[in-house]
Amino acid sequence: MKIFIGEMMSCNLNYQPEYIVYQLEDNFEITTMVEDADIIVFPGTCSCTNENISYSIEYISSILKRKKTSAKTYVTGCLTRKFKKSELFDIENWLEANVDFIIPQNSPNLLLKMISEEKFKNIEKDDFGAWIAYQNEAYLYISNGCLNNCTFCKTTFQKLPLKSVDFNKAKLAVNEIAMNGIKKINLVGTNISQYGLDINGTYMLPKLIEYIENVYDISELGLIGFAFKDAINNDFSFVMQNSSKLNLISGSLESGSDRILNLMRKGFTSEEIIQFIETIRKKYPKDFLLSIIAGFPTEEIEDVKKTLDVLNTINPSYVAICRYTDSKYVYSHQHPQLTPTEIQEHARIYQKVLSRRKISAPIKGDDYIYN
Ligand code: SF4
Repeated sequence: MKIFIGEMMSCNLNYQPEYIVYQLEDNFEITTMVEDADIIVFPGTCSCTNENISYSIEYISSILKRKKTSAKTYVTGCLTRKFKKSELFDIENWLEANVDFIIPQNSPNLLLKMISEEKFKNIEKDDFGAWIAYQNEAYLYISNGCLNNCTFCKTTFQKLPLKSVDFNKAKLAVNEIAMNGIKKINLVGTNISQYGLDINGTYMLPKLIEYIENVYDISELGLIGFAFKDAINNDFSFVMQNSSKLNLISGSLESGSDRILNLMRKGFTSEEIIQFIETIRKKYPKDFLLSIIAGFPTEEIEDVKKTLDVLNTINPSYVAICRYTDSKYVYSHQHPQLTPTEIQEHARIYQKVLSRRKISAPIKGDDYIYN
């Protein structure tokens, strides 16, 4: 499914257009050819002056003339505001007659959700399982979406629903990767721990790990998008401990403070995650790439210290420090928020301590704004 993004006509006062573009570019295939697009989005329209209204409508018309018949069109931005009819146009009626979906300017996530559902609704589960090779490693995409409900998570509703590749197809892809002489496989998904739940009614990741363990030509395995909650509560530890090839796990800790973990609904305690990691490391070494959230609502320095203690015990080689970004659509919005200065300060403390421990720890999370 290819998406064409229309020209930005909105002024810099609005953050929504850039946010939409960022999310579309991050999650979908973008085309610059209108004729190829299955979806056409106009994220930043303007209605400040009659001239701007004219320009927006003329521009949209010129694009619509070139689109293929089946392409769906979405317009958002200032042009969608309910306002008096301009002297030149009856904008509301014009939009209704010419575009498929008119999304209010303050609902960019509604637009993203609709496009996401459009992307996945006709996809057979078998369409997943594609793999790409990069620097002698294969990335095998086995699932999309997550059924968990972490209170801060914006990913869940933008990438719903959970879809997994058929297990046999995943095995075939593993064989194909091995036949191509690639020794390392990374299994990738939004939450790969839930792989198989939608089609098999059970967690299939342990079975896939076991399968890969027995493929002679594959020597290394990484898990990217690993949710500890599902793994701990459904006892993946035996299989993960016994895999000699599994040497890299990338997932989220978010916090080492049980109070914060509880507010996040992460589904595990600091003790449980430490114990789980210790168990799966007992036989073979395993490296961890973790993410944490700096400045989650109500986080205090005491919570930061607890997180640093847990990280000290786990000793990952990489920690992504994600500054908390609020959204009125997430549950954590209801808790008292930290100020941007406090969030920044917590991120700085994390980075300072982790760097001292020689752990790569970039700060992330302020390059876009969630609504
Ligand atoms: S496990 Fe990850 S993707 Fe799923 S809800 Fe929690 S943060 Fe979001």
